Amino acid sequence: NNKAIATPSRTSQILKKYNLSAKKSLGQNFIIDPNIMDNIVKIAQIDQQTNVIEVGPGIGALTESLAEAAHQVLSFEIDDRFIPVLENELGHYDNLKIVHADALSVDLRKYVDDYFDADLPLVLTANLPYYITTPILMHFLESDLDLESMTVMIQKEVAERLSAKPGTKAYGSLSIAVQYYMQVEIAAIVPPTVFNPAPNVDSAIIHMSKYKKKPVEVKDEDFFFRLVRQGFVQRRKTLRNNLIVGLGKEEATKEKIGLAIESSGLDPKVRGEALSISDFSRLAEELKALD
Ligand code: SAM
Repeated sequence: NNKAIATPSRTSQILKKYNLSAKKSLGQNFIIDPNIMDNIVKIAQIDQQTNVIEVGPGIGALTESLAEAAHQVLSFEIDDRFIPVLENELGHYDNLKIVHADALSVDLRKYVDDYFDADLPLVLTANLPYYITTPILMHFLESDLDLESMTVMIQKEVAERLSAKPGTKAYGSLSIAVQYYMQVEIAAIVPPTVFNPAPNVDSAIIHMSKYKKKPVEVKDEDFFFRLVRQGFVQRRKTLRNNLIVGLGKEEATKEKIGLAIESSGLDPKVRGEALSISDFSRLAEELKALD
């Protein structure tokens, strides 16, 4: 068959042939526009010198383009119904490995070390299941895989949070958690009509690429991230009050928080949403210095 899987006709034909329908509970929305796939491959800068990990191949719409373009593709699918489909429709690609597993609990490192036959740049691409966008992205960011970039289709509203700058409504601990590791850019906005079934919201292709050098040095990452989360617990409250709730209401702690905010050069009434990553890092250092 010389028509791409990512077309309305091929997708309906495959769903019919295998008697399948999309499961909402697993975030299944299949892409039916081949231009989107070309775009993802281009944005992710995938060529014959690239190894690719994919989460959620579904019936193979993106997987097909990845196998065409990349050196090798390793793809994790949780829904067992799709495994025979992928084997039948894409089995002729000898640079593709499909693994039936939950991408959140599988030992990624082991599969990566076992499967890829050359030490090439490694990227993640996916049309993500929207109900677990954040856990999946954090799982890959915090893994010990050396990922060059992540290029993923997600809800537009989440894409805006991931790429948000300080002082904006969308900015929060998620923006910092991702931007600490990677440079984030919204590459395209995508309407519901390119999916079957169509989701209720607009989507976006977001491209995140690893910094050559991290822009901010953080000495104690656990404490830094704790501080960041605490700084945004109640957005209407000042940073000081949020930190008091999180770190301790004793007079000595309150005083320490006030001093650290001041010595970081921040306004005592500042809100968490105004702080950049380096502001939070400086504040973490000042607080630790007072311990
Ligand atoms: N890649 C296909 C496409 O673009 O048409 C399907 C994308 S669909 C939005 C998301 C896919 O992720 C589904 O195939 C779903 O079964 C799969 N999925 C959901 N949760 C998963 C998990 N925890 N691990 C691996 N795959 C998962």
